[in-house]
Amino acid sequence: MSLKIWIDGELVDEQNAKISVFDHGLLYGDGVFEGIRVYNGGIFELAAHIKRLYESAKVIRLEIPMSESDLTQAVEKTVEANGIIDGYVRLVVTRGKGTLGISPLTCASASIIIIADCIQLYPEALYETGMKIVSATTVRNHPLSLPPQVKSLNYLNNILAKIEALDNNVPEAVMYNHEGFVAEATGDNIFIVKDGKVCTPPVEAGALEGITRGVVMKIARADNIEVVEKNLTKYDLYVCDEFFLTGTAAEVIGIIEIDGRVIGDGKPGPITKSLREKFFKYARGKG
Ligand code: PMP
Repeated sequence: MSLKIWIDGELVDEQNAKISVFDHGLLYGDGVFEGIRVYNGGIFELAAHIKRLYESAKVIRLEIPMSESDLTQAVEKTVEANGIIDGYVRLVVTRGKGTLGISPLTCASASIIIIADCIQLYPEALYETGMKIVSATTVRNHPLSLPPQVKSLNYLNNILAKIEALDNNVPEAVMYNHEGFVAEATGDNIFIVKDGKVCTPPVEAGALEGITRGVVMKIARADNIEVVEKNLTKYDLYVCDEFFLTGTAAEVIGIIEIDGRVIGDGKPGPITKSLREKFFKYARGKG
């Protein structure tokens, strides 16, 4: 069945959803995006995703030619038109059609694309066994070059680290910042548990301010678990009791080995498991 894609104000069949080869989103990765989950017909944390999208756009001086409330409605309409009950929305804003030069001034108007589809998660078994990862040598973008809080269409920095992960036959890699502190994984935020305390790098360490990260921190605190945002080193990762990643697609997934160092007893730990279950229920409106 053909999907209905929202493109610049219209819902069109997938095969007719096209953008110009002169779009600066394609030519230069000039644009911003969001990945959003749909659970039981409800769009999870849509307001937070819309806010992050507009903030990312503001930082790169990209004007989204639609109000936040109209865009919210457009996302809802696209999900409904595709009959998505459990799925994933990709909301993309490109700089639009311009010339072959990089100047954004040649792009008359940004393009808005909304795709509502299904999502391929990590295999269920990986949530039970936990995942092995490696440290990437690719350093996370310097915040003065491109603030990592901006969810831009330019993911090359993360892609290079992802290639390192895949070269090592693991699905994810930890990225460190220019000072050597832990930033994030290529598409997920990082948490560790040490002596009963949940720790995550501050956003200033070079992480996207993950929506899942925020929800998981709230769930943990509501459970009387201490949550601390602080700089973490590779050493902290190697000697932690538990380790997990959070993200829209991954939700909460335990890490059981990094760079050949086994975490805890080599299985997702109790706090990881409890937060995963609580997040799972909360997202589906059952918690
Ligand atoms: N970091 C990066 C680089 C990401 O691309 C993502 C989203 N896939 C995350 C963290 C997690 O953010 P969220 O929980 O909002 O999906």
